[in-house]
Amino acid sequence: MRIVVDRNLCDSQGQCAAAVPDLFDLGDDDVLHVLDEQPPEDRRGDVEVAVARCPKRALGIEG
Ligand code: SF4
Repeated sequence: MRIVVDRNLCDSQGQCAAAVPDLFDLGDDDVLHVLDEQPPEDRRGDVEVAVARCPKRALGIEG
């Protein structure tokens, strides 16, 4: 599983980071950082929550 971010859509407001803060973080630069782009399979549910919370449909899951 790989987390993909469409940077053309992401507004860096951080709803994903609020939902799953150990996988997504807004850095001091106010840019979204994915802290683990290939999380283990047991995190799929958390990633799906972040995807569902993204108002811009900027998050996706490959694999
Ligand atoms: S919720 Fe979506 S638009 Fe907002 S920071 Fe996360 S990926 Fe970007």
